[in-house]
Amino acid sequence: MSARFEGRTAVVTGAASGIGFEMAAQLLAEGALVVAGDLDPAGVPEGTVPVEVDVSSSVAVERLVQTAVGQTGRIDLLFNNAGIGSTADPVSCTVEEWDAIFAVNVRGVFLGTKFALPHMLAAGRGAIVNTASVAGLAGLADRAAYCASKGAVISFTKAVAVQYAGTGVRCNCVCPGTVDSPWVGRLLDAAPDPDAARSALIARQPVGRLGRPEEVAKAALFLASDDADFVTGAAFAVDGGFLAR
Ligand code: NAD
Repeated sequence: MSARFEGRTAVVTGAASGIGFEMAAQLLAEGALVVAGDLDPAGVPEGTVPVEVDVSSSVAVERLVQTAVGQTGRIDLLFNNAGIGSTADPVSCTVEEWDAIFAVNVRGVFLGTKFALPHMLAAGRGAIVNTASVAGLAGLADRAAYCASKGAVISFTKAVAVQYAGTGVRCNCVCPGTVDSPWVGRLLDAAPDPDAARSALIARQPVGRLGRPEEVAKAALFLASDDADFVTGAAFAVDGGFLAR
């Protein structure tokens, strides 16, 4: 196991499950001090610093970043990963549901970035990786608010990348296809025929299987690593060919 992140301090949101759990675990295995934020931090990887956070809350996210800075005086890596889904079409989506999706998926990414950036800029180095989705690059039925929120994450990623290009701070996002995380497990369990629903999701992906959380985490860690020093503003699909079809 390499130690690309030895001596680095990382913050991961949504670290108690799925993709965020894997990001936190892989960062830890590669030497980082990991501050792991989640609504329910009981499930974050052992060895990380658990912090209860609701990423839609400005006060809570500022506290999360301060926890990282308080540990080591720095924050080198930020993974804005926490997100929630919506399966509504544009007519049935309520205003409350629309706002709730944007509060977590978009405001959460903005807040993490807003509070981490001053520390990164002062140090002249830092990497931010946001978890967007193929749903931010392609239209999906019954995902109106979700698609719009992930499109916003991709646009915000590019704006931040351009704003700070050349400062040593980079900002990229991963765009996962359908990944077999607890989230997708819950979606399938709620379907009238879970097996048929799983087969339909698999059929959307040219490689013929769902992704694994650790596969998305590996791509995110690459974007955060020094190997990606020339990469900023990228929306990196990790999707089994979904967008190439
Ligand atoms: P998951 O539900 O397994 O894990 C998400 C974690 O985020 C949970 O631990 C949850 O408690 C936490 N969380 C939710 N709301 C939060 C909030 N307000 N504040 C702090 N933590 C919060 O989901 P996952 O599949 O690992 O998804 C992680 C990210 O990946 C999300 O942004 C999601 O949109 C994105 N994504 C997932 C898929 C997929 O197929 N699973 C595909 C594309 C993108």
